[in-house]
Amino acid sequence: MSTEKIKTKEYIKRYLKRCVSGPYSLLCGLSVTLRYFFNPKRIVTEQYPENKKTLKMHNRFRGHVVMVEDENGENLCTACGMCERACPNASINVLATKNIAGKKVLGKYLYHFGSCTQCGLCVEACPFGAIEMGQGFEFADFSPEAFEKVLNKKEGRG
Ligand code: SF4
Ligand code: SF4
Repeated sequence: MSTEKIKTKEYIKRYLKRCVSGPYSLLCGLSVTLRYFFNPKRIVTEQYPENKKTLKMHNRFRGHVVMVEDENGENLCTACGMCERACPNASINVLATKNIAGKKVLGKYLYHFGSCTQCGLCVEACPFGAIEMGQGFEFADFSPEAFEKVLNKKEGRG
């Protein structure tokens, strides 16, 4: 058989193969679409921002540092400063004060969200579970002051 004939035969073989594999892959894709069309509950894709009001982030999501409060609305912070020391980029300042009994308590918990990398090291370092990573998102703002936060509403415990 001449080389020309072999080449033509190879070409036809490849062409026929593509004629079959093309529609096959199309049908595979369509079958996935149809499966989700008839079982909408199985859809995992989040339709953001349409679902903004109902969107719940995963537990492991690290939004920003927030203070944990007990049932009386009191924060659990003792102003020990462990989180401040654990933070690699000085995004936390724990300003301690003294209560009327002369005990050291938390005055202000300053959080610089602009420099925070959401690493979570501060949360891990806190021995009292007084802070955690929040689930919030969409904090974009034009004003740098919006990223300077005081996390506690009240003084901490002694
Ligand atoms: S999450 Fe990380 S960067 Fe942000 S305040 Fe905590 S330790 Fe610092
Ligand atoms: S948040 Fe935790 S680690 Fe940080 S000062 Fe308060 S008690 Fe200490």
